[in-house]
Amino acid sequence: MQALIPLNYRIHLDPDLTRFKFDGKCDILLDAPQTVSEVTLNILEIAIWSCRLLQGDGFVNCGFTVNPAKEEVRVILPEPMSGKIRLKIDYLGSINDKMAGFYRSKYTYQGTTGFIAVTQFEESDARRAFPCMDHPAKKATFDIKIDIDNKLVAISNGAVAKEDRLDNWKKRITFEQTPKMSTYLVFFGVGEFEFTRDKKDSRVRVVTLPGMKKYAKFGAEFGRKSLGFSEAYYAIAYPLPKMDLIAIPDFAFGAMENWGAITFRENLLLHYPEITSKSGEERICEVIAHEIAHQWFGNLVTPSDWRYLWLNESFATYFGFGVVDHYYPKWATWQHFLNGQTGSAMARDALHETFAIEIPSGEHVVINASTAPIIYSKGGSILRQIEGYIGKDNFQKGLQHYLKTYEYGCAASHHLWQSLETVAQQPISAMMKSWIEQPGFPLITARRQNNRLVLTQRRFTYLPNNFNQKWLVPITINLYSKTGGTRRITTLLDDNEQAIDLDEDILAYKINDRQTGFYRVKYSDVKNLDELGKRVLEKSIPPEDRWGLENDFFARVKSGDVSLEEYLKFLACYQKEDAYLPLTGMASHLYSAYLVMEDSWQRRISSLAKPRFEDILEKIGYDPASDENHTTSHLRDQIIWDAVLYGSKPALDFAGNRFAAMMQGATVHADIMKSVMRVGALSGNDKTFDWFDRQLQESKIEHERLNILSALGCFKDEALIIKSQRYTLDTVPARNKFIPVVAMASNPYALPLLWDWYVNNLAEIEQFHPMLYERVIAAIVPVAGIKRADEVKAFFDDYLKKSDKAKDVIKLSLEQLEINLRMRSAG
Ligand SMILES: [Zn+2]
Repeated sequence: MQALIPLNYRIHLDPDLTRFKFDGKCDILLDAPQTVSEVTLNILEIAIWSCRLLQGDGFVNCGFTVNPAKEEVRVILPEPMSGKIRLKIDYLGSINDKMAGFYRSKYTYQGTTGFIAVTQFEESDARRAFPCMDHPAKKATFDIKIDIDNKLVAISNGAVAKEDRLDNWKKRITFEQTPKMSTYLVFFGVGEFEFTRDKKDSRVRVVTLPGMKKYAKFGAEFGRKSLGFSEAYYAIAYPLPKMDLIAIPDFAFGAMENWGAITFRENLLLHYPEITSKSGEERICEVIAHEIAHQWFGNLVTPSDWRYLWLNESFATYFGFGVVDHYYPKWATWQHFLNGQTGSAMARDALHETFAIEIPSGEHVVINASTAPIIYSKGGSILRQIEGYIGKDNFQKGLQHYLKTYEYGCAASHHLWQSLETVAQQPISAMMKSWIEQPGFPLITARRQNNRLVLTQRRFTYLPNNFNQKWLVPITINLYSKTGGTRRITTLLDDNEQAIDLDEDILAYKINDRQTGFYRVKYSDVKNLDELGKRVLEKSIPPEDRWGLENDFFARVKSGDVSLEEYLKFLACYQKEDAYLPLTGMASHLYSAYLVMEDSWQRRISSLAKPRFEDILEKIGYDPASDENHTTSHLRDQIIWDAVLYGSKPALDFAGNRFAAMMQGATVHADIMKSVMRVGALSGNDKTFDWFDRQLQESKIEHERLNILSALGCFKDEALIIKSQRYTLDTVPARNKFIPVVAMASNPYALPLLWDWYVNNLAEIEQFHPMLYERVIAAIVPVAGIKRADEVKAFFDDYLKKSDKAKDVIKLSLEQLEINLRMRSAG
């Protein structure tokens, strides 16, 4: 990297929302500690027409050459220089429709279509909006000005400093200078925005488009709560005078933490009474808390290189859940974390095709369907593990030390260990390195030899491996004595094998207390597993542990270590299970096996699950009760669909009747809307399709649209599935095209039709936003490829020779296909 330091950018934009172009002027002040004769800046798809250098009191022209492939412009200085260098660059850019850089998003209000222009820069798209040194470590301050029509509003990171009237019904908005920050966090937006200020903390504003203000209050309130939690927990005040939470209709990611101007998909910020389900509500809170945690982890202290991206995302993931749990302990947020984050991270990380949380240097790091489960979910889970090991107080103090030491600067992974070590006075570096710098995670095998418990570790993967890896594993064990007592012991497993002495009266042991550790466990002595099974049956061990036992067991089915038959037998211990976490885990695993296995196994799974799910639904009630737990609503919405597919008549009658009423204009409770619509599609006809189409076109509410889109993937009738596939490409907005496809990939009736759809429409599907294209691959290949595996493999063999598109996701999806094929043949 060149030894140039950007100090300040003055950016002046004049966007045109009818021609989708903008004029830009960017004035960059740089410091050259050594003599330089040229300055290299990043640009992408912008046309520079003048580049000048400040010399004395005036500007002189500089020559420049553009290298589009390297996304660079080289500015030639008239003479070698050092010290302060001020460049003035005039250019023209486009307000694109790619959901990257400076882009446009469409909305309708009172029958009229309008556009807003907003930005999404992470990780390398600021260069589409202004010439810059587009690297997170190149921090500078930003002074931003935007010229807009009088009737419009402009937003940026800073508060508005002044507004000047211009000719032609325009005005110039000047924003306050930002703190020293990275280019990927800059934001500007122009449109008919409206503000809803939180009543108790005037810094927090929710920004909406016309007609949406009434849905803003919930987000504003939780924004205030998250901000309050963060300032108290990190002990560093939020440095900006305002925090905007902005709802954007077209958005590729879920949300983006631009400093002081956070952007969200509408459904992740706006709350629609009667339409937003409880799980939707939780997700809104979690995403707001995630983005607000970034204002410290990422914005204040920034990774010195993208390979340390986990320092942003793991913390934001962890606190996303932590803040919600703090304010709403009854929502059982950590249970969702276990199932959704730890569980899915382990499933992802058990592939050969995985990588370390700290991405090896030199690789191009992007957030995508392959990296996100590792950087976000595994990283967040490792933080939970370390917090469990050093204690909550040390964890908090260590983070405060880290943030204070590196504020307005950059950090690498070891800076974090040092801070935790300083505070906890424990050798954490070696432990953290073993989890952050190497891929995968261990399977702990436990066997009892008289009064010794022998633990061994080995990397766990679904397909066989010869890896020789070792982790420093913080192990917790609950010991159950013959007399009924329970005792918890801890140890640090730092070798391949370690033995622990047990008292004679110990009858059973459960490793990984409440599943805080990121490892799987295999109990090789049957007696112990039987004892644990009894405790599962009588529910005398916590739900997290019941979940963990089932989860590890199913993972071993996928790795070929135990049979599906043995797993189904083990499920007998869960006959009386009524807790959300083990039930949701079990339901998902049964469903995933159902999608993979042959007909006879499908019948087995149906006959086992149908009566169980009918019992549960009977017990919790098909209709949501007004005072029920959030987890009850989650479970119901999940298993109604499963039960219907397994042939349950009561579930089909219930959801079918509700859907028929809905088509007649009746309202359906938000917490069952998704499953009712899905079941409605399953038994639907052309009229149903037309109804969905109409609803989708007329709905102004993203939550409702998402339910409809998911239902569009749930038809049983072949002609309707094909119609829906065409509709997805032709009519569904780009940001949401993946949703019906993902639903089809878990619909056994649509599965046989997915591969042909993909191949026949490849050119169109490849045009999706890269991350959304990857989601399509990840959803369809592992399951839709089962009956045509050779064809799928041959296709991608050829594809990967020609294209780099979705490379990582293709490879990991093919590995998942392999795992599914093996499970099917082992059946
Ligand atoms: Zn994030």
